[in-house]
Amino acid sequence: MAVLTSYDAGSYHKVVGSDTIQATAVGSVDALAISDLPQVIAQAKTAQKIWASLTLSERQQYVVKAYQALAEVQDELAVLIGQEMGKDYRRATYEVGGTIQNAPYFAGEIGDALAAEDLGNNTQLQYRPLGIVAVISPWNYPIAMANNLLLPALIAGNSVILKPSEQTPLVAQLFVDTLNKVLPAHVLQVAQGDKALGQALVIADINMVAFTGSMAAGKHIMANAAPGLKRLVMELGGNDPMIVMASANIDAAVRFAVASSFENAGQMCTSTERIYVDERIADEFEQKVVQLASRYQVGKWDQAQVNIGPMVNPTQHQKVLQQLQDAKAKGAQFLLGSDDYPLPFIQPTVVSGLTPDMLLEREETFGPVVAISRFNDINDAITRANDSIYGLSAAVFGGQGANAVAEQLEAGMVGVNQGGGAGNAPWVGAKQSGFGFHGTAAGHRQFAQVRVMSY
Ligand code: NAD
Repeated sequence: MAVLTSYDAGSYHKVVGSDTIQATAVGSVDALAISDLPQVIAQAKTAQKIWASLTLSERQQYVVKAYQALAEVQDELAVLIGQEMGKDYRRATYEVGGTIQNAPYFAGEIGDALAAEDLGNNTQLQYRPLGIVAVISPWNYPIAMANNLLLPALIAGNSVILKPSEQTPLVAQLFVDTLNKVLPAHVLQVAQGDKALGQALVIADINMVAFTGSMAAGKHIMANAAPGLKRLVMELGGNDPMIVMASANIDAAVRFAVASSFENAGQMCTSTERIYVDERIADEFEQKVVQLASRYQVGKWDQAQVNIGPMVNPTQHQKVLQQLQDAKAKGAQFLLGSDDYPLPFIQPTVVSGLTPDMLLEREETFGPVVAISRFNDINDAITRANDSIYGLSAAVFGGQGANAVAEQLEAGMVGVNQGGGAGNAPWVGAKQSGFGFHGTAAGHRQFAQVRVMSY
């Protein structure tokens, strides 16, 4: 049986005097061979029939109880998140704790959304299970992202095969094993493996792919799902803009700019990636950004005071460096930090003079970088903010007129004097940042087949 080894994100280093990269293993899991996938699917099919025969309320109760069981391994999960992807202990604890605490509320909301509706004339609108849902998830919020799609998929009466990121297999294994102490056998299974296993799962005999990850993988999945017309929910990447108007509360804008660029070491789908600031306030804005950014502490997950962890792996580290080096070559100024950091960390970095030809402006940057450009005409700022194939979230900071600017931004979630996206609202991307979404009744119903039943 092949194994998938997991490495401590904070331990990657180059061996002195050579190009060899080494890291400490945290542990390993059994990888699922593609040839064994049909057996997993057969088990999921059988289990789904029994699961779907339970009432909505019985499924809700099972799921709520299964999430309660997670409390026993909450700390273990948080530590594994810290080790496998580098998030500091406080944030990892918050991710796991939030998932556990919110499960009963969301289970209730999902149950309400999926209850049959009476349309009159002896006709009902029903929300029926789709069958088998493949949930394919990323490493940056390994519990929260899987959970967002698992909950509605399960309560809707589907069986689920979770294909977690190959970067965070141990977190996923403990998560699923614990839920499965309560859930009936094979209603939820984990398929451990890399991208090739994900591809095999998408083309296998399943009914829906609920995916969170990169735009490139999303496009590939969409193409592979097309022959079977499989249902899709695609939560993809972002390149989120922020516009700071001259009328903005500068301190509030600075706090958001830095926090949102550095959260999760910048490895967040809705992190602020490009900041367009009115040139009349740009000097003060930049100076305060540098002051605040300099206070961030970089280090491993278990070091006190750390709020920026390592990049998840050498490939991601290298990608961020390439974008910084490209920006430098094209004339950007480094107000804090540099374009060259040893593994595994990227120090807090503030770059000004961002221009549209830089990779930093065009691509998603998954690192702790504040990237700033100045404008003298708000229409130019809006044009540049919208000049992206992505459209996940966007923010505008300003006084009068900020709402009108926000109305013109092409994103699924837009915030005025705050980030885009609200607690109970759908998590939704526009343009190539998404296709389908989760959250609220409209989101939950995407995990079900609508059926009109006339008696
Ligand atoms: P990724 O796309 O490389 O991998 C995500 C998952 O998909 C992994 O499990 C991977 O093994 C699998 N996979 C990759 N290619 C596949 C393919 N062709 N077919 C089937 N499965 C495939 O993404 P990542 O590096 O793990 O995560 C970071 C990305 O996720 C960023 O772009 C980030 O913005 C995005 N993200 C989006 C959201 C959102 O809600 N919109 C949330 C978190 C992360």
